[in-house]
Amino acid sequence: MKTIVVASGKGGAGKTSFAASLMAWLHGQGIQAVAADADVDAANLGLALKAGVPVERRTYLAGDAREVRAEACTGCGSCAAACRFDAISLAAGVARIDPFSCERCGACADVCPNGAVRSVPAHAGELLRSPVAYGEALAHGELVPGEDASGKLVRQVRESAARIAGPAGLVVVDAPPGIGCPAMAAISGADLLVVLMEAGASGIRDAARLLDNAAIAKVPAVAVLNKAGLSPERDREARDLARDRALDVLGRIPFDAAFRRAAERGGTWLDSGSPGPVEAVSEACAAVAARAGLVPAISAAGATPERTLP
Ligand code: SF4
Ligand code: SF4
Repeated sequence: MKTIVVASGKGGAGKTSFAASLMAWLHGQGIQAVAADADVDAANLGLALKAGVPVERRTYLAGDAREVRAEACTGCGSCAAACRFDAISLAAGVARIDPFSCERCGACADVCPNGAVRSVPAHAGELLRSPVAYGEALAHGELVPGEDASGKLVRQVRESAARIAGPAGLVVVDAPPGIGCPAMAAISGADLLVVLMEAGASGIRDAARLLDNAAIAKVPAVAVLNKAGLSPERDREARDLARDRALDVLGRIPFDAAFRRAAERGGTWLDSGSPGPVEAVSEACAAVAARAGLVPAISAAGATPERTLP
């Protein structure tokens, strides 16, 4: 199985739109991939892929919720005194933990003289499988409000996608933004990382941090520059980063308001109807597919790595 991860060092750089466009481009080439929406905090890859009603739902359990065993509790109140979040109340001589106030710090368990506080798995969300217009399926997650996105959930979304794809399949992952644990869980073990670089100082800096992490995880990385051509200065910064990191920039996607309108309609960048920019997106997708060994480089327009941006 092959895994291509699309990521960016920050949100709003266009990674979800590019991941959806890559799925649609592959679909157009007769290559059916499974999409994994690992951006579980803001999962919206399904909108662009025109996802249908989920056909599979599984409970996602996160550990470390706390619960009082009433039969062991003497009502001494030590746990309530130790709780800095006022999550514990005493009723009828027994402590009770409010799950919405509990921050799972574990102090109550530490101070309880009777071992009455235990750690239990909490229902933190659901793992879903949905049909999509472009590709084989979408594996995604839904968090219960207030639950943190975690590397564990991201791993489970990836595992679900891998199971659907099978040993000979292809998974395209839309990674969470940033460089934290969930982002690393999305990247680790991938065959190719596509870094969506948004032209501009912060976009370039965030991309550099992501590349540092990719190097630690030993994942080969390429880049696609989004909102290219808005200013020579911004393009120069991207060119400098690519040169400094020996990074192949496989696509240069211009800013186009039609992309945003396509996203608002629930489509990919390829649905924008804007010929020049659509061609740029297609070329970037072809180049990424060629780099991943999915199509011959010779038939993929723009497959030649472009380290020197114009
Ligand atoms: S785990 Fe921490 S926050 Fe939760 S009830 Fe115990 S002391 Fe309070
Ligand atoms: S510290 Fe233990 S025994 Fe005391 S009230 Fe809390 S749970 Fe009950």
